[in-house]
Amino acid sequence: MEVVKVKSELQEFLCRVRPENSIGLVPTMGALHEGHLSLIRIARAASQKTVVSIFVNPLQFDNKEDYLKYSINLDQDLALLQVEGVDVVFAPNISEIYPINHQTRIFVSKLMERYEGEFRRGHFEGVATVVAILLNIVQPHVAVFGEKDFQQLRIVEQMVADLGMPLKILRAPLVRSSDGLALSSRNNRLTAKGRNSALIMSKGLLHAKEKVEKEGEVNVATLKEHTRKIFSKEVGFALEYLELVDENELLPVSFLEKSKPYRFLCAGYVEGVRLIDNVSLKI
Ligand code: AMP
Repeated sequence: MEVVKVKSELQEFLCRVRPENSIGLVPTMGALHEGHLSLIRIARAASQKTVVSIFVNPLQFDNKEDYLKYSINLDQDLALLQVEGVDVVFAPNISEIYPINHQTRIFVSKLMERYEGEFRRGHFEGVATVVAILLNIVQPHVAVFGEKDFQQLRIVEQMVADLGMPLKILRAPLVRSSDGLALSSRNNRLTAKGRNSALIMSKGLLHAKEKVEKEGEVNVATLKEHTRKIFSKEVGFALEYLELVDENELLPVSFLEKSKPYRFLCAGYVEGVRLIDNVSLKI
């Protein structure tokens, strides 16, 4: 496995392999867990050479303290990536991605407006900008993004379609721990008690999924009220938003229609740590 820190070195490697190999990219911010590794397995199955980027993107942090607290251990990450059979790791420093006088920003108008976009101002502009830069540097045939960050995934899909970028975006299902908690690098900041409180998010969402898929509940107001009630039982959890949306435009709906894909999205705080989760719903 090669580990490179500068674009030109990465591009030399890619030039060498590109004639005979398809290339898959998995962008990450490090602090890798099984969720990230599932994306890498999807990339490896879909392409012949896998590039993983590790870059904590300052542009996507709306909260400076959150950025400073985002701790990664590169050696630990590299050991995991080696086991997964990754071909090259791109771990640039900030000036490699944003040289002095960098000015361009990517803005996906409608999909960025709500939910994460509303509560984390500027976050998605930072995400879309760094993803566009990474896609341009690597020029992969496929890139993999997780459904854990569903709104982010839709924004990336929309950006790639709108800009006519020549690659395929692959979706990776959300990976949970055995007790239901959505895996996230931020979970490391929780105490054992906090982690226990955080379980209420998946509990509430998965209960709603059952109500839809087993009991046929289609009234969104009923589903939201039911889920809020479950959330309110956990005093350690402060809900920020809970929305039931269609999977494509991510607009809130009032009733679920047969065979259409929906997502139940939520965000909230446990011990001052901001967590997100979502489930797919289909009737
Ligand atoms: P991050 O390092 O948090 O920026 O995440 C890098 C990629 O991994 C993104 O596409 C995330 O959606 C994805 N990811 C993170 N956690 C999970 C998870 N629990 N399940 C699936 N994908 C995930």
